[in-house]
Amino acid sequence: MHSYSLIAPAKINLYLEIIGNRPDGYHELAMILQSIDLADQIDVHAASTQTIRVYCDHPQVPIDQTNLAYRAAELMARKFPDAFSNFGGIDITIKKRIPVAAGLAGGSTNAAAVLVGIDLLWNLGLTKSELEELGATLGSDVPFCISGGTVIATGRGEQLSPLPNLNHINIVLAKYRSLEVSTPWAYQTYRQVFGSTYIKDTKDLVARANAVHSGEMVKAIVAKDAAEISQKLHNDLEKVVLPAYPQVLQLRELFASQEGVLGTMMSGSGPSVFAIVESPAQAEVVKQQIRTAIPDEDLELFVTGTITTGIQIIRNS
Ligand code: ATP
Repeated sequence: MHSYSLIAPAKINLYLEIIGNRPDGYHELAMILQSIDLADQIDVHAASTQTIRVYCDHPQVPIDQTNLAYRAAELMARKFPDAFSNFGGIDITIKKRIPVAAGLAGGSTNAAAVLVGIDLLWNLGLTKSELEELGATLGSDVPFCISGGTVIATGRGEQLSPLPNLNHINIVLAKYRSLEVSTPWAYQTYRQVFGSTYIKDTKDLVARANAVHSGEMVKAIVAKDAAEISQKLHNDLEKVVLPAYPQVLQLRELFASQEGVLGTMMSGSGPSVFAIVESPAQAEVVKQQIRTAIPDEDLELFVTGTITTGIQIIRNS
C-alpha cells in the first residue's frame, strides 16, 4: 500500500495583537508566527476500504470526526470524490510530540500535513496557494502550517506575508500537561474586558492598523537580533489568561527571573509559555532550573529552536 510520512512542526506567536472585532464574528489580528523544531509525525496511508481512520498515541487527542486531521481528509474526499473512489480510503497515524491544547497549533499542523500528504498520495498536483485555501476552511492557523517559517499573519490570521528566515533562535518551552485554555474563551473574555471595538470599514481598519506595533518586531527579525526580538515579544491574550491561570503567570515570572533568558511570552491563547535564551547550553541550564523550581511531573519542558520550514516529507513507500 502507498503511504507518505510527514513532519508537522508546531508554531509559537512572537507577536499577537488584537486590532478589533470584525462584523463576521472573527477578530482582526496582527500576528507574527514562527515554526519551531518540535513536531508530530503524520503517516498517511492509502487504505483498501472507502473510510477515513485516525490513530493517535496521545490519550487527549480524539480519533473521531472532531480530529482536525480527520476533517482535513474528509475535506479532500469531498473536494476530490473521483480520487477518493479511485485511490480508496485514508488511514492517518499521528505520533504526537507537540503538547495538546497548548497554543502551539498542534491540531492545525496535523491538518496541514494531511492536506499535503493526500495531495501527494492522489497525485493531485495542488499549488501551495490552493492547499492554503483549503486549509483556511479548516482553521486560521492551517495555511501558515503548510509552509511555516517566519510569517506576519493578518486578517483573522489567514493572510500571510513571509518574513526573512529566523533560524536557530534558542527556545525553552513549558506547558502543564493537564492545563487547557479554550481559545474561544480567551477571545470572548478579551472582548468582555476590553470592550467591542468593531471595525466599521477599510478607513477604520487603516486607522487602527497605524496603532499596530508589529513593525518594531519585524525590524528586529530582519536584523536577526535575538535580544531585540525578545524585547518586542507581545501577546494581547496574556491580559486575560495570566490573571485567570496563576500557574501560567508563575511560569512567566519564573522564566523572566532566570539568568540567560532574553525574553518570555505565552504562545497563542496559552497555556504554553516560551523563553528565548542566548545559547543551546543556556537553554539546558534554564530547563533544569525550571524543573528544580517546579518538580511537578505534570509540567512538560522542551528545549527547542526556531526553524524555517513547515510540513516536510520524510518518507514515501
Ligand atoms: P491553536 O494554537 O491552533 O489554537 P492548540 O495548540 O491550542 O491550537 P490543539 O493542540 O490543536 O490546540 O488542540 C485543541 C483541541 O483540539 C484539543 O483539546 C483536542 O481535543 C482537539 N484536537 C482535534 N484534533 C487534534 C489533533 N490532531 N491534535 C491535537 N488536538 C486535536
